[in-house]
Amino acid sequence: MVFRDGLPTKYLWDRFEHCAAPGPPARSRGRAQRLLRSSPFPALTMTQSDCLFCKLVAGDIPADVVFRSDRVLAFRDISPQAPVHILVIPSEHIGSLDQAGDTHATVLGEVLLTARDLARSEGLAEGGYRTVINTGDDGGQTVHHLHLHLLGGRSMTWPPG
Ligand code: AMP
Ligand code: ZN
Repeated sequence: MVFRDGLPTKYLWDRFEHCAAPGPPARSRGRAQRLLRSSPFPALTMTQSDCLFCKLVAGDIPADVVFRSDRVLAFRDISPQAPVHILVIPSEHIGSLDQAGDTHATVLGEVLLTARDLARSEGLAEGGYRTVINTGDDGGQTVHHLHLHLLGGRSMTWPPG
């Protein structure tokens, strides 16, 4: 069994079905699905199929998309907490910042630089803005697909609640 980011490749194959990244051919996916039924990681797999933001990446749920690349999607938050409230996410499923691996350095960099570019195009750069990544229960994370909040257009307070 080959491992990547601490996960067996058969798990990685499965998650292609729920993300925008091109996956292996259907025959390989079928084999991966069969292998998966005996996987020691069934809970991880269920999380992917239930992931709201993976469905958004796949276009199964509508979103107000402001930017899309091979690796990143950005869309307006459905419940904005500031005049500008955009979420920037990796297209592939990463559950949280804590679950990111070293191999995610490129996509994490793209998430940050996308936030920078959107802050400029939304007119926030001069006045300033806030970027937030909530992680885990104590961090207030409610959607378990890594996302960066870009908030701006009003003055922010500190510390956060
Ligand atoms: P967090 O609490 O950090 O996990 O942030 C999750 C964010 O996702 C919240 O700000 C929600 O308002 C936002 N959200 C949930 N569902 C959607 C959706 N369908 N489209 C856009 N934003 C969403
Ligand atoms: Zn996801």
